[in-house]
Amino acid sequence: MCLNLSKYLMRTVAVDLGTVNTLIAVKGKGIVLREPSAAAVAAGSNREPLAFGREALQLVGRTPGGIHVVYPLRDGVVSDYNVAADMLRFFIEQALGRKVSAMGIRLVLCLPLCVTDVERRALAEAAKEAGAREVLLLDEPLASAVGAGLPVFEPTGSMAVDIGGGTTDAAVIAFGGIAASASIRTGGTHIDGAIREHVQKAHGLLIGERMAEEAKIRLGSALPGGAEQLEVKGRNLESGLPAGVSLTAAEVTHAMAAEIRKIVEAVKEALAQTPPELAGDLYTNGIMLTGGGAKIRGLDKLLSHETGMPVSVGADPLDCAVLGALSMLEREESFVSVRDTLEAQG
Ligand code: ADP
Ligand code: MG
Repeated sequence: MCLNLSKYLMRTVAVDLGTVNTLIAVKGKGIVLREPSAAAVAAGSNREPLAFGREALQLVGRTPGGIHVVYPLRDGVVSDYNVAADMLRFFIEQALGRKVSAMGIRLVLCLPLCVTDVERRALAEAAKEAGAREVLLLDEPLASAVGAGLPVFEPTGSMAVDIGGGTTDAAVIAFGGIAASASIRTGGTHIDGAIREHVQKAHGLLIGERMAEEAKIRLGSALPGGAEQLEVKGRNLESGLPAGVSLTAAEVTHAMAAEIRKIVEAVKEALAQTPPELAGDLYTNGIMLTGGGAKIRGLDKLLSHETGMPVSVGADPLDCAVLGALSMLEREESFVSVRDTLEAQG
């Protein structure tokens, strides 16, 4: 009884460790941290990170050589666990204060589907080192579905498609679990990469990742039709000198098309695996898009056209996973309190 009681005194915290963004939410406070999942690492060193998040990105811009940015979770692989673990510890301490309350914290860590078991354990360990007494691991699509308001715990099927920076997870959900899923390594950063490649090939201009991301957000679409233009700047590959070019919405949309196609195919693959008794529900409940990629213009229309199902975009799609994870942890607490009451009544 005492042990269970201490649960209520612990702080309840949710962490969405994304490939591009990390979000932390605290019960009663909402989202308290949003940072890029990035670390600045000195080249040639033992990869001891110098800074994390926004500070890491700024450091790289202002420091002469020798330092580069690592996104340890990008492409869905925890490519450098030690860096990922240090970053997670840093963000938790930053969000909650260095002196975590004596009662500790209960933490739910939400990770993309393709993070391996070994990697999951290493990250859970890092969260414990940062003061988490208890760590629950949660699959991102499930958390996103809860955050987007899908009927996750009900005996009906619904579908969440989370399009992050490095991964896209499509999952059919029913009875609180994942009934069918497809996870692929494409997302916002792959789309940015395709745009950079296009600009390099078509205009002989090397542009930075952030410039490509801006072109995607301002001009890009899953469907043809935009007429806007944007001046992008970079380095001319032939002369080596700074140069600019005016990109059209049509060419950006065309450059994105192959990655968008992969997202459509992943959704179709998850649908193909869906048990027939749930498939029918999807026509009424529809498909919910979450993650930053949900904001790609026209993606909802394209997916609806390709699958014949209603498709909607979650409100604040970048926040769905962390808020869903927090509400799942609270829900679990309410189960615990029912159990405690029963135990107490004996
Ligand atoms: P992760 O969970 O993998 O960290 P997020 O869900 O935070 O990823 O989404 C980050 C991605 O969303 C980035 O690649 C970013 O460029 C993209 N993104 C954010 N806003 C938009 C937008 N308005 N249009 C298209 N892509 C967007
Ligand atoms: Mg995410």
